[in-house]
Amino acid sequence: MQKIFLKRGKDESLRRFHPWIFSGAIHHMSGEPQEGETVEVYTTEGEYIATGHFQIGTIMVRVLTFQQEPIDQPFYERHIAIALDVRKAAGIIATNTDNGLENNTFRLVHGEGDNLPGLVIDIYGKTAVMQAHSVGMHTDRHIIAAALKNVMGDLIENIYYKSETTLPYKAELGQENGFLLGGSTDDIAIENGLRFHVDWLRGQKTGFFVDQRANRQLLEQYAYGRKVLNMFCYTGGFSFYAMRGGATLVHSVDSSQKAIDLTNANVALNFPNDTRHTAYADDAFRFLDHIQTPYDLIILDPPAFAKHKDALRNALKGYIRLNRKAFEIIQPGGILFTFSCSQAVDKDHFRATVFSAAAAAGRNVRILHQLHQPADHPINIYHPEGEYLKGLVLYVE
Ligand code: SAH
Repeated sequence: MQKIFLKRGKDESLRRFHPWIFSGAIHHMSGEPQEGETVEVYTTEGEYIATGHFQIGTIMVRVLTFQQEPIDQPFYERHIAIALDVRKAAGIIATNTDNGLENNTFRLVHGEGDNLPGLVIDIYGKTAVMQAHSVGMHTDRHIIAAALKNVMGDLIENIYYKSETTLPYKAELGQENGFLLGGSTDDIAIENGLRFHVDWLRGQKTGFFVDQRANRQLLEQYAYGRKVLNMFCYTGGFSFYAMRGGATLVHSVDSSQKAIDLTNANVALNFPNDTRHTAYADDAFRFLDHIQTPYDLIILDPPAFAKHKDALRNALKGYIRLNRKAFEIIQPGGILFTFSCSQAVDKDHFRATVFSAAAAAGRNVRILHQLHQPADHPINIYHPEGEYLKGLVLYVE
């Protein structure tokens, strides 16, 4: 195994179990490791510190373990078994213990949050959708799939691998999406008793935004008798919860026609012939400029405006503009669910942004809930960068 030696003093963050090694921390390497190879990391003095996947870029090693051990199928089995135990403890497998409703949709492995940097596995019914964000995880995909099946047993029958868009382009791996196990065409999964189609093949992320489950559940409790605008609806998650909660009207908006088609299909699946729902393929800002309906429950769940720190200023401006619009149009006594999934925008930034938007619109606003990512998207305490989803539920006087 190739060895990487750190510059003096650059082992500090690793002693606090931070799982990334930046290129600037590396003194020299024993050879020329290939991207994706497993490497061992040593201090300048030659003391072993960690083992991880080597990659080319700013982050050069993503640490898998701080103990000298092989990265093999049993290694992945141990980690996936713990990840499963976490989800069992959180009460979200098969039945959501919070509400007693059927739930076969959850994230089983959340990268660094589950000590498997670069690996995401979402479960949709009997199908696991696996995504590699590093060449190392791509290289190991077959032993990971075998480990996954061993741990999950009868809980899954299919493993779909979807990494076409998540792997570094320059790695030129010729990666393809496809089944590593099984091959079911059943594309319907259940979240809190609601059914939806998952488009593994072409959908964003692994096909559905699993991270809003708990927040959608909360929205349902606010929906009764309200006129709802679900902005950036994607596959309509918030919309069908609003309908079950007794909303009188639900409008879903997304700039992607494909997303709108999926939203319509999902609404039809749960509420056939229900005329309360209409979906619009439109740009959010344009739609908000031409509002006719007196909405009193609005959801704003935009894509990550800031993917990187340097895009932060523009992102904050975007959030202010969007939230200000919502504050301007929402009815008195309205409820606003507003989110940011940009990792670069932290809780305080986001709250300050919504504060500015409220002040600019001159509305009287109370914070009712402060929302975050759910237990199946855990945050490794040594890796605060893993915190990305935040939201506020506001009462607008
Ligand atoms: N709320 C969704 C997830 C939203 S993801 C859920 O619960 O599943 C963000 C969505 O915003 C994507 O579907 C994307 O197509 C859409 N989008 C991006 N830019 C947009 C814009 N300018 N106007 C409207 N929708 C946009």
